[in-house]
Amino acid sequence: MGKVIIIAGTPGTGKTTTAKLLSKKINAVHVDVSRYVIENKLYIDYDPRHLSYVIDEEKVIEKLIELVEKSDKIVIIDTHYPEILPPDTVEYVFVLRTNPLILEDRLRKKGWPWRKIRENVMAEILSIVVSNAINRFSEDKVFEIDTSNKTPEKVVEEITGVIKGYIKPSKQRIDWLSLLKPEDIMRYEISGE
Ligand code: ADP
Ligand code: MG
Repeated sequence: MGKVIIIAGTPGTGKTTTAKLLSKKINAVHVDVSRYVIENKLYIDYDPRHLSYVIDEEKVIEKLIELVEKSDKIVIIDTHYPEILPPDTVEYVFVLRTNPLILEDRLRKKGWPWRKIRENVMAEILSIVVSNAINRFSEDKVFEIDTSNKTPEKVVEEITGVIKGYIKPSKQRIDWLSLLKPEDIMRYEISGE
């Protein structure tokens, strides 16, 4: 059975870029859950409002556990929804964080509509992925990495160091609310849709 490492974060924080590089570096298996769900038809429906699939949670959990049990390598799970995995199977949850203004820029480059950008930037401002991860896994398994001014290579270096035990992971909790100006936050408010 492979060890499980989760790379979590709001869309656009760099999960897939990081997980791909990391899996090459440490010879692990990379599962991009969004892609995996589509490729294996593990969805119930398509939600046109959120431009995303509604996943069949039971099936996704079952398939992921099966994959981990069969693997003799470390399995890196790349998802914005880490709480889908049972806590005792997971060794580390690295939550990638990105300054909301930089995140907005990354999501614009993906060509996303403003409604979807705003929703995700707001989720990042409110640390939703971290809160959910901490509620699901014990606090000491969840580490945040600010990717705003780091190359993907640097992020991978930090994660590798923690996994291999030569870097002490940072216990820093990131709170964009306290770092942003109120007018920056207001831009993402819902304006009667
Ligand atoms: P996610 O899988 O979390 O949605 P991606 O890996 O698809 O994020 O990355 C989103 C965008 O941000 C891509 O254009 C990618 O090149 C860029 N990116 C990813 N990591 C970084 C980083 N550390 N610094 C700058 N840009 C990054
Ligand atoms: Mg991705």
